[in-house]
Parts: sequence; C-alpha cells; structure tokens
Amino acid sequence: MTVKEIMVIGAGQMGAGIALVFARSGYEVKLYDADIEALRRGKQYIEKVFEKDIAKGKMEADTKEKALNRLQLVVDLEADPITADFIIEAVVEKLEVKKEVFRKLDELAPTHTIFATNTSSLPITEIAAVTGRAEQFIGMHFMNPVPVMKLVEIIRGLETSESTCQTVQELTEALGKQDVEVKDFPGFVSNRILMPMINEAVYTVFEGIASIEDVDQVMKLGMNHPMGPLQLADFIGLDTCLSIMEILHEGFGDSKYRPCPLLRQYVQAGRLGKKAGRGFYTYS
Ligand code: NAD
Repeated sequence: MTVKEIMVIGAGQMGAGIALVFARSGYEVKLYDADIEALRRGKQYIEKVFEKDIAKGKMEADTKEKALNRLQLVVDLEADPITADFIIEAVVEKLEVKKEVFRKLDELAPTHTIFATNTSSLPITEIAAVTGRAEQFIGMHFMNPVPVMKLVEIIRGLETSESTCQTVQELTEALGKQDVEVKDFPGFVSNRILMPMINEAVYTVFEGIASIEDVDQVMKLGMNHPMGPLQLADFIGLDTCLSIMEILHEGFGDSKYRPCPLLRQYVQAGRLGKKAGRGFYTYS
C-alpha cells in the first residue's frame, strides 16, 4: 500500500519525534494531542531539532521550511474528516486510554487506514481487538530520541496481515531506520530487558547501596553504557518506566518484575524525569 499522509496521535516526546521523522522524510503529517499546550510544545521541539541540524550543517534551511509546511497541527480530531493512510498513536502508556483512542479512530478514519501503536509494552492483540480492523493493526515501537535512534521494533498482533506488516517495514526503511520483528509479549524485547535493569538500579539506591550518581557511574565506566540507567530513566519518563514495570509484573505474574517503591514514590511526587524538570536529577 502507498502511504502519503500520516497522522500522529499524542504530541509528547515520542509523538513529536515521530511526526518530525515522517515530515523530514517527505510525508504529509498531521499531529494531534488532547492537550493544546502539549501540541504547542511538540511543534517547538520539532523546530528546535531542525534548527540544531541546520547549525550542524546536516540540513538546509529550505528543507526545514518544506518539512514544516508538510506538518499540520490538529486541535479537534472531529472537526475535519480524517484522510490519513497511516495513523500512529503515542499517547500515555495506559491500556484503557489507548483503547479509547482507537475506538474513536476506528469510527473516524477511512477503512483503508492502517493503525499502529507506539506502545512500549502493552498487548497489541488486545488493543487491536477494540477496532474492526485487527488485520490492519500493528505495533511500531520507536526508540527515544526518535530522530536519532535507528531501531524500530515491529510487533504483529494475532490478526495482523502480511500486507500491513510489509507496509510498516517499508515505512521504517523510508525513514532511514531498521526494523526488528518481535512477538506480542509484555515489554516485547527492548523493554523486557531494559526496564528490569532500570528497576534494579532504582532498588540499589532505595536500599542505600550507592548514590544515584555512583550507580550511573558504575554502569557508564564499568559497562560502557553511554548513559547510566537512572539518567536514562529520567529521559524515558519515570511514569512511563513505572507503567511498563506494572505491565511486565501483571503480564508475567512474576515477582521479579515488581516495581521498586522508590520509583512509585517519585512518580507520586510528580518527579517524572526530564520532561518535568526533575526526576533522579534536576534539569533546567
Ligand atoms: P509523554 O507523556 O511525553 O506524551 C504523551 C502525550 O499523550 C501527552 O502529550 C498527552 O497530552 C497525550 N495524550 C494523553 N491522552 C491522550 C488522548 N486521549 N488523546 C490524545 N493525546 C493524549 O509520553 P511519551 O514518552 O511520548 O510516550 C508516549 C508513548 O510512547 C507511550 O506509549 C510510551 O510507552 C511510548 N514510548 C515511550 C518511550 C520513551 O522513551 N519515553 C520510548 C518508546 C515508546
């Protein structure tokens, strides 16, 4: 299937990044968020990344203008008919919220439109089941920050068709990224491995074994990780990390995935990481 127009639902750190890479690669992009402020911040983020690319000589000024002209912000999902060939959702990591979004999209979008979710850990098959188009539904999991990271994890639901999968592989390639196809199990591959490591890092601080800085230092200098797990958790968002741990815990029913109480407390305090200005570290 030829995809020309993309719609991105959710303009947070992932949604804005996804809109950016599609607009940069020549697609018409519509970006929607339920929160108008988030939409404004999303657009600002995209402009800032483009400006940095120009300053580094990676992008021409007129390429930036063309890409921005291909990007349209949507404040009311129901105001105009949806015309997108492909819709990708990147709202909060909550099953019920995602299901509600797709129930609505299923009513509003043309029948040929393919649906994708950027979920980090939730069951693709279960979200797809709220739509009448499970064969046109897939997981397309981008990594953070989207403009930089090469990987896209592709997850087929039980009913996902071969042609939907092929279209999403072609889109991934058109964005200059590389796909890895994995099975629909909690956390897929990336977060099944990454999140328990982050959770364990939080436990080492919670149990007083080392300071936040020292835990990160051990993993950077000792394991050659470009960034420590607690700093990475701040970049991902501590609310997202907690949601993923809860999904792994519930999905596998294994106590090894129980979220650290300190992680839960940081989220309760609103210390959500970089996006909130404060998490394990403070950001200006
Ligand atoms: P975020 O908190 O930065 O953004 C979420 C956005 O969704 C917010 O702007 C919010 O206003 C919007 N939203 C909430 N409910 C909505 C609704 N009903 N309709 C429209 N918009 C709505 O979160 P994020 O980090 O961008 O994560 C988004 C998704 O991407 C999650 O599923 C997450 O698991 C996944 N993901 C995150 C990362 C990461 O590193 N943060 C990486 C890969 C995938």
